[in-house]
Amino acid sequence: MAEPSAAEQQWLQAAQAFARRALPARQGPGGPADAVLRCLRGASGGDLPLDYSFISVSDLRHQQSTPCCSHLTWSTNEFKEWACQGQGAFPRQSSLPRAYLILVGYLTDGRQEDKEKLVDGCLYVKDNTGIIPCEMLRFELEWLESLFLFPSWAYIPQTDQATVGYVEILLDPVPVNLLPKKVLDTVPVIYPAAAEPLLSSRIPCKKRSKLSVAGELAKLSPLLCIRHKTFFFLFLKCFISAVGVPLLVQKPNQLAWHHVLQLGHRYIITGLSMSSLKKSGQRVFVTGASSCLLPYCAERVKEQPLDNAWQGETPQSASPEASVQFSDSLELGVEEERPGLTKESKIISYVGTVTKILNAQAGLFELDNKVCLCLAYQQLLNSAHGLRPGACVKLIDVHLLQKPLVSFHFVVLGACLNSTVVLKSYSRLSTSYQPMVSSGNLYLQLLFRYNLGMPLYLWLVSLLETFEERFSCFFGRRRLLLNSVHRDRGAAEKFLVPLLQAIVSGREETRDIYNEILAKRHRCPLRQYRTLDPPCQAPTLSELCCMAKRKSWDDFCPSQLLSSSEAQHMGAQELNRRLAWSYCMFSAGSFQPRVILLGVLRVSSRSSSLQLQDKSGTLPCVISHKDGSPFAGTALIGSLLQVEAYQLVVERFLQSDFPSWKQLANLEHVREKKNSVYVQFYFEDALVLQAPEVQIHEGPRSRNSSSLRKKDVGDSTAELEIPEAKVLKLEDPKPDTGKDESCQRDQSSTGKNSCVSRLFLVTQKEGLMLRNYQLPREGNGEGQELQRSFQATVLWLGRPQIWSCPRKPANLPELEETNYHGEEGLTQQEALLLFMGKSLRWFPFLHLDGLYRFIVPHCSDLEVFDKLCFPPVPARFLSRSCCPLCLPVPDTWHLQHETWISCLTERQLAAGSVLRGMEQRISSISEILSNRFTGSLVSFPGEIVERTLCASPKNEKPSVSLSLQQQKGSLLASDHSVKLSVSVAPGSPVVLDVYITAAYLQHLWGLLPGAKVLFQNLERKISRFHNVYCTYIASSCMSIASLPASRIPLPSSPAGEASSPSLVFLSNLQLHLQNLSQARILCHLSCVLTLSLQWVCSLCNSIFKEGKCTRYNPPCPSHMGVRQANARVLVEDGTGEALVLCRNQHVAAVLGLSLHEWEAVQNCVQSRGRVSIQHGEATGTGCVEEPEDLIACYLRSLCRSPLICRPILLDFSLDRKPSKILQPAPLQLRNFRCGEVEFVSQVQPRPSLLCLNVEEVEQKALCCLNSERIRRTSSHC
Ligand SMILES: [Zn+2]
Ligand SMILES: [Zn+2]
Repeated sequence: MAEPSAAEQQWLQAAQAFARRALPARQGPGGPADAVLRCLRGASGGDLPLDYSFISVSDLRHQQSTPCCSHLTWSTNEFKEWACQGQGAFPRQSSLPRAYLILVGYLTDGRQEDKEKLVDGCLYVKDNTGIIPCEMLRFELEWLESLFLFPSWAYIPQTDQATVGYVEILLDPVPVNLLPKKVLDTVPVIYPAAAEPLLSSRIPCKKRSKLSVAGELAKLSPLLCIRHKTFFFLFLKCFISAVGVPLLVQKPNQLAWHHVLQLGHRYIITGLSMSSLKKSGQRVFVTGASSCLLPYCAERVKEQPLDNAWQGETPQSASPEASVQFSDSLELGVEEERPGLTKESKIISYVGTVTKILNAQAGLFELDNKVCLCLAYQQLLNSAHGLRPGACVKLIDVHLLQKPLVSFHFVVLGACLNSTVVLKSYSRLSTSYQPMVSSGNLYLQLLFRYNLGMPLYLWLVSLLETFEERFSCFFGRRRLLLNSVHRDRGAAEKFLVPLLQAIVSGREETRDIYNEILAKRHRCPLRQYRTLDPPCQAPTLSELCCMAKRKSWDDFCPSQLLSSSEAQHMGAQELNRRLAWSYCMFSAGSFQPRVILLGVLRVSSRSSSLQLQDKSGTLPCVISHKDGSPFAGTALIGSLLQVEAYQLVVERFLQSDFPSWKQLANLEHVREKKNSVYVQFYFEDALVLQAPEVQIHEGPRSRNSSSLRKKDVGDSTAELEIPEAKVLKLEDPKPDTGKDESCQRDQSSTGKNSCVSRLFLVTQKEGLMLRNYQLPREGNGEGQELQRSFQATVLWLGRPQIWSCPRKPANLPELEETNYHGEEGLTQQEALLLFMGKSLRWFPFLHLDGLYRFIVPHCSDLEVFDKLCFPPVPARFLSRSCCPLCLPVPDTWHLQHETWISCLTERQLAAGSVLRGMEQRISSISEILSNRFTGSLVSFPGEIVERTLCASPKNEKPSVSLSLQQQKGSLLASDHSVKLSVSVAPGSPVVLDVYITAAYLQHLWGLLPGAKVLFQNLERKISRFHNVYCTYIASSCMSIASLPASRIPLPSSPAGEASSPSLVFLSNLQLHLQNLSQARILCHLSCVLTLSLQWVCSLCNSIFKEGKCTRYNPPCPSHMGVRQANARVLVEDGTGEALVLCRNQHVAAVLGLSLHEWEAVQNCVQSRGRVSIQHGEATGTGCVEEPEDLIACYLRSLCRSPLICRPILLDFSLDRKPSKILQPAPLQLRNFRCGEVEFVSQVQPRPSLLCLNVEEVEQKALCCLNSERIRRTSSHC
């Protein structure tokens, strides 16, 4: 042998050093290094592989961070060819990079490694430096605990720190030392045919000696771990028949057998005894400590004669079901779909390549781009080692399920405990590996706990996947998926368990895995299935918004938004305006399947609104309490809510140019469609799945800070971090959990650990608006922009306090304290809070009559509240000392809602003397409508009866700057305003109109018919016609006290018509009218005073004649006319007379014309443009129309006909515009004629009414109504 070169010298030194460090010195003479070098030389044809270096297990684990492979004996070409072959189906994936590393180590099953650790059935490579799991395609028991050189292997590192990587052994290892040859003796055995009857005999096991059974391996169960005990079953069958016996292998040192056993091979297992399983009583052969697994060799066995004790019963042949069916190819033809029917799954065998890991934790893999392999029903104790994209697997006896889930595109191959999954070859690609962690795996736990079939399991997986994806950025994956093994259930479990329970209730079969494996008749959860139509879904918020929007436009039909009787008389402008804003409301059940709403409650300081949030987006929300109190749950910010009873509202904004109602079906006239989506629900219907982060952290955090706490002496330290942590959490609505956590920890350990708090009562809250506040500390404030802000007047209760641990809400120390201080100083305690910037987030939480607490973190200065206050006007202008001081609320302060004033105990009320000096600030609608009301800013509760979009009155256009600022994102044209008709209670006829211009509507969620709303600080106004109404002004605000009843409103029936109006007398009208929106009278139609029918241009309202607009200057291009009609009639009901204005279809009703006749009359008017007649006029006098006009003649004679004069039931509202009915009008002198005699009498002026509906009265009904009238009149007297 030549003298080694310098390089070789160096390499040898390194080899020696490696051997000293990594290999135990128990080898023969020359030490381990010599043996290894000898082996290396043998493997690589005599030369030392100088371009390779040794790597220890520890270095591999800790220094190799990317996948790699090493092939000691391969040439570059050999490697390239190998890599190329593996890339077939994955042109874009790179193959494993080659590393030049020599791996030497012991193969072990882990038995001596760590006494604590259970032998788990995995194989490992170990050296002195460490141990690492390995996966082998072929294994022999003799290899255990021997030193090997691994000529070809790949290392797959772990991406996440929790688990280690593993080694894939590609070629058989080369023993460093010669393996001991085992000399085998002749073994006496029995065959399954003889052994099988023994299992069914009832002779106690104790009496029997140990047996050896020889047979062919027919079935091999996966390794299972139940209650910390790992085991597996195998079946040996006769060589010539299907008769087989089950064997249970459960000794830790025998678990490695699982790697040796191959289906179809023949084996002998010695040292067997019989045992019956505790639960099911099934009898099996069980291995003992001395049992061995031997390959079957015909020359070395002799059949053991059974003594008398063994022979009890005659042998039985196994039932045919026990034999396994093999089919080599998978038939992927799509089965005929029979939803709802229970299908039997086929059992097949399949060989395929893993193309994708669908969900490692759930045990789902994609094979050959077309099949889903589910391994979850096996436990997969080897952490799915080797199952990387590119690996080839052979599946034996797996269940084939076609379309287990309606939405699942794959054919599913489900491996049950009777199936065998064999890794055929490793992936040659550098694909990542995701371990399947079986302990604490929520997927598997729920699968086993509820004994789920494949359809339910796949549905569960999709729910959980989405859940995790949506919320792990807020709470961290681990916390979400905490399972009930831990002290508190994670959110995922709280969400899923009730769903699963609801489905599986009734069929409470627990899974019996022994029976599954051992029963002769194949029973397992995969045997039968039925395509599942999922009962519910929980889509991401952005998906939900899309679904709702799509649905809202799918359902959209312009003609349904308007009643056709109204629409046909509308001009283009009014028509399009009425279509411009509509809404629809969806509940969970509006979707198929039902949608469960999940989201993290957040508050945006930008929009000052509550939102639900997930990773995909946000959804504004309105939350109310069922008792009508406003939502102020500051403690809920950041918590994960689940809501199933909710109203998802889609507001539709439409820009259209429909020329008239006839074109409503033609959607080409829709110019633009926009939406806004929000959700509203009751707090009581929301379930908190996960409390805000900080509360969960209490445990570990208090441990962390215990040292700090010891230093702080005194009363105030116990829970100081908590509110402060909340503050930090609240500021940033963006999901950024990791940062937040570290941030909290930092501040709590380094910052000053004290907070100051102060209690206050909100006595007035104003709306969001742009204000030009000049804060004193910001200098002169020259050129300052207007700031979006809101303000609230509050009453300080008690003095600032060092904030100690949270108390029960009822326990408010400040209220006890004020008792001592008496009433002096109470007047000084009022303050005006200014909220700007980030503190705008408190807007949705701050409500009138609420008791709140400010918590100032990192502060021990009790005067902090006074120090920040400043007078509202510069001191030199300050003349009045009673002005409350302004306090701009800093961003970092935290607001905490304590209680409502109505919830205080009497003692607290008395002590605080809170109520004194607080006048009633909420009025009723009736009070506001009353003439005697004097205030100009009003607050009142009411229910929205109707909302209509109308053109903004010109004098009420918002100022330019305001509209410019607020119009961004506004979906309504700024010249629009909304009229809300607000009533005291449902069905009440007393209605107050509230006008809100488009600029304010942007963030006013929940203004829907049926909603009860508390309006605050609205401006009360009186119209020219002495009608009272309110307008929403900059300082106004509102809160939703209750949500509309969950029914889709029928757009064709205008709100308010639902209940029939109350029957009144004309003589009583004077008393009622100012409060009545509508009423009904039984009256006699006396005569028609005026009647006019016309066609007007739909664009410009000029007369439309013979298909053209008559406007000439400038000429109007319109080709669309709209017919209109109006009439003024006189009615009397025996107690008085009234003028009634009728429009359009009501004119036909008053004239008693049928629809058909009315159409005909209107069509005749078309050529004339306009026809009108007046009561009492003679033919041809003073009229516009041609003297001989037939239509005019017809109408005139109709009006004079006695047939017109008849009893009718008239629904009406007060015609507010032309009359001044609220003004006491002077009495009028009127002539009456009775026969030949004329009388003159003083009468009240006739009230003027607007016809809403006319009904004919039949004789019977008339009698009925008359008798009721009489009854009511007499009771009146
Ligand atoms: Zn099965
Ligand atoms: Zn016109």
